[in-house]
Amino acid sequence: MNHASRIATELRDRQSHIRKYRRQCACLMLFAFISMISDTIEAGDPLRYRAGLRISTDKNKLSAQERESVIRSLSEKSGFQEIGFNEDGFLDLGDTRKFSGGSSTARDLLLAALDLSFAIDLESHNRSKDIAFARLDKPVHYFNFSSREEIDVYPIQIDFSDFKKLRGDKEVVDSFDIGFTILHELGHAVLGLHDSIDSDSDLGECEQYINSIRRELGYPVREHYLAKTFSRSLTTTERSSLVAELNFTKLVENGGKSKKLRYVLTWRAYEVGPIVSESGLLAARGKSAKAIAASINE
Ligand SMILES: [Zn+2]
Repeated sequence: MNHASRIATELRDRQSHIRKYRRQCACLMLFAFISMISDTIEAGDPLRYRAGLRISTDKNKLSAQERESVIRSLSEKSGFQEIGFNEDGFLDLGDTRKFSGGSSTARDLLLAALDLSFAIDLESHNRSKDIAFARLDKPVHYFNFSSREEIDVYPIQIDFSDFKKLRGDKEVVDSFDIGFTILHELGHAVLGLHDSIDSDSDLGECEQYINSIRRELGYPVREHYLAKTFSRSLTTTERSSLVAELNFTKLVENGGKSKKLRYVLTWRAYEVGPIVSESGLLAARGKSAKAIAASINE
């Protein structure tokens, strides 16, 4: 079976189990404490019952600048030259034969996001205290009592302001940008991939998938899922505060030898999102292993 056929088959298999996998999504259960029981709402908008990935049309809609940043980053990750949002706000990849560079894994994921039985809304939640970068929220079930149409809508809630607070070399900041973050949430929503919180050094299958995209594009790869937190100053003039840290690495060839470059991505933890305490992390793990405080809910 060729690569494209194998991916398509895997996606069909996975989509038949999406609800089961989604219920097991560790990051949702740990950081958002969100029930997966859907609310049911009736909507008059006929577009509400159309499946696919689209930008929110309600109070959490993206600004023009935010829409542009999403498309610019997803275009760079996938190489799709005609990618955009159509007049109804749905993701439109255009002619998918037209791509330049980009990651084939990212293209596979975006293609899968066009072939859904449910809807995903991209929402803007700037300066949210509950959202660190982004999260996949619980679904809302829409039902039209007249037409009998129904659909589950999964919101991807994005705090665009958090990305301006990242500190590190440009390469590592770019390795954790809006495009990678949306692809991470699509890894949960579309493929049913999990995060891992079993240990501080675990990465989890969702970030393993995103790392394959980073490798294809030549970016540093993420070493662990949970962000560690330390009390320190980010500048010489400020008082120390809780700083969150993620580590990245990149293998480079140098004089016939492989060399691993190391990168550190940091942010002031309390300015971005919730901090998970040691006891909270232990409770979520369900065991009494040694743990450190951690931050992140993407
Ligand atoms: Zn996640």
